[in-house]
Amino acid sequence: MRLRNIPGADDAILNSEYCIKNPEEQKGHWQDCFDKVQPLHIEIGMGKGRFIMDTAALHPDINYIGIERYSSVLLRALQKVEQNPLPNIKFICMDAADVAEVFAKDEVDRIYLNFSDPWPKDRHAKRRLTSTHFFGFYDKILIPDGQVIFKTDNRDLFDFSLEQIPLAGWKLLNYTYDLHNSEYNEGNIMTEYETKFSAMGTPINRLVAYRDK
Ligand code: SAM
Repeated sequence: MRLRNIPGADDAILNSEYCIKNPEEQKGHWQDCFDKVQPLHIEIGMGKGRFIMDTAALHPDINYIGIERYSSVLLRALQKVEQNPLPNIKFICMDAADVAEVFAKDEVDRIYLNFSDPWPKDRHAKRRLTSTHFFGFYDKILIPDGQVIFKTDNRDLFDFSLEQIPLAGWKLLNYTYDLHNSEYNEGNIMTEYETKFSAMGTPINRLVAYRDK
């Protein structure tokens, strides 16, 4: 697997102890990258990483991995964590389509998808991170009672996701079309996009998916 979009952000990424360079070599051994063996939560499409870093700081008893496909974006997260070091976070520069090559069966305890790209054209539906195609990958890496937690401002993508979950053989634990005015908002940690869209008055959708295994 090759790192994506490396020119420009290369040196910082290649030299950072926070970024795992050949992630497929860690498959089945991700706990070796951390000080403590504890549950592993991943965020796919983390952007500049505010959500996962704030979450990791609040939950030292969980290990976190942030996944972002663009090195130029990941670089911003690396700069932040190097200013405020955390022992329980690592990053990978890769495409989400490769997750099952990088994580072993039952290696991940929870998956966060925050403000995933909507891919509005029908012919690109398979690229949406909440398509049945991607739930197939999540099925391979998530523990039996693990959850996928998805937030978005995009109602079309959210409605698509609500349809895809049962089609993928998963179930909905709960969902809301207005997270910030719902019972599920307690303890919510905002992402960069969430801050931007909620400031414009856009309601935030959120769902929790699981499967009966
Ligand atoms: N999660 C952040 C937030 O809520 O502020 C960023 C949201 S931004 C709209 C989506 C991010 O996901 C972008 O940084 C994009 O590069 C990344 N992304 C989209 N598709 C991806 C994929 N297939 N694999 C890895 N990262 C992806």
